[in-house]
Amino acid sequence: MGLDGQKITVAGAGIGGLTAAIALRQRGAQVTVLEQAEAITEVGAGIQVSPNGFAVLKALGLGEAFRGIAVQGEAVELRDYRAGGLVARLDLGLLPQDQPYFFVHRSDLIDLLAETARAAGVRIRLLQKVERVALDDGPVLHMGNGDVVKAKLLIGADGLHSKLRQTLNGVQAPFFTRQTAWRATIPNVIGHPNVSRVHMGPRQHMVSYPLRGGEIINIVAVQERTGWAEEGWMHEDDPANLRRAFAGYGGEAKQMLDAVERVGFWGLFRHPVAPVWHKGRAAILGDAAHPTLPFMAQGAVMAMEDAWVLAHALDGAESVEAGLAAYQTRREARVRKVIEAANGNAWKYHLAFPPLRFGAHLGLRALSTLAPKKLMQQFDWIYRHDVTKG
Ligand SMILES: Cc1cc2nc3c(=O)[nH]c(=O)nc-3n(C[C@H](O)[C@H](O)[C@H](O)COP(=O)(O)OP(=O)(O)OC[C@H]3O[C@@H](n4cnc5c(N)ncnc54)[C@H](O)[C@@H]3O)c2cc1C
Repeated sequence: MGLDGQKITVAGAGIGGLTAAIALRQRGAQVTVLEQAEAITEVGAGIQVSPNGFAVLKALGLGEAFRGIAVQGEAVELRDYRAGGLVARLDLGLLPQDQPYFFVHRSDLIDLLAETARAAGVRIRLLQKVERVALDDGPVLHMGNGDVVKAKLLIGADGLHSKLRQTLNGVQAPFFTRQTAWRATIPNVIGHPNVSRVHMGPRQHMVSYPLRGGEIINIVAVQERTGWAEEGWMHEDDPANLRRAFAGYGGEAKQMLDAVERVGFWGLFRHPVAPVWHKGRAAILGDAAHPTLPFMAQGAVMAMEDAWVLAHALDGAESVEAGLAAYQTRREARVRKVIEAANGNAWKYHLAFPPLRFGAHLGLRALSTLAPKKLMQQFDWIYRHDVTKG
């Protein structure tokens, strides 16, 4: 059918929504993005963008601009929590040269996407909160300010609490994983190299990596606990609570924890993948369709992959409905597999029973020394998949 001149409304100007807006616009669509916030600003934190996400940015013509705002990762290091002894090292240099792995500040990526979208002619409207979506007579958005907006084609990229997801699937309660996370950025007090470090302790782990040319470090610290914590990223906590929870940590991990001055705290919830991603002339993508726990660092990257595939599927389809159906078919099995991998990852980092912990670390250390390629190859199905190559 081609997308030339097609009017498309995207709800949500996050990483998924903006990537979709650019991909659709580049194929000729007239795109309007509706964002609830008053400005396109992102809370300060980092994300890791693996080669499969970079492939999408490159295909959109953003490869060089992205390299300019990101730090290229050299390795992922698994370390013990006490003195930081190295357990295993995944050498990211073993990835093909044209498939690099990056760390980037979310707000820098959002700025790049928003500027690119605007320059390409996408209209981004702020303070536009979608309250409800009806689909009986084509997509109709009921806005927070009382407006009613009829969309010719609606993409719901409105994240975890997506209104379009609710219309398509009803409300499905998430469940608390009994894991809580703190997130902070600190000055680079340890000369953090360009690697992602996972400091593994009993029932807890801490991830750190550098951002912005190595000026700052992003920290995510996860702990298992029975008590309730709220979902959402920006509940502020007292840094003393973080330090108390990770009191057993030593070496550079402790130095990083000591440098935390402001910290966000929240509970990690597992949401089911939405069974229905589309109906008529409406579809969801990214966290709206399939929120994931952060343990594979793939949520934003999956949203980017979705965005590319959605635009590609619509462009080549006989009808909008056929295009949206093809999009879900092409994406669902992959995102389910990635989400399962993320669900299964935390316990590996959190081993508490000392002999099991010792054995697992010994095995990892041996594999990392004797067969580094093999260790890396287990992630090929995620990192070396390129949705832009069909
Ligand atoms: C601690 C942590 C670490 C992470 N690390 C990584 C990582 O390293 N790599 C990675 O790939 N992913 C990571 N993720 C996941 C990633 O952040 C998300 O999966 C990703 O942001 C999803 O993008 P999205 O565009 O679908 O949704 P969002 O980023 O949530 O964007 C949704 C947008 O829609 C807007 N919106 C919401 N509701 C409405 C409404 N009703 N009306 C209008 N607008 C609305 C919001 O304001 C927002 O701008 C991490 C997540 C967490 C919690």
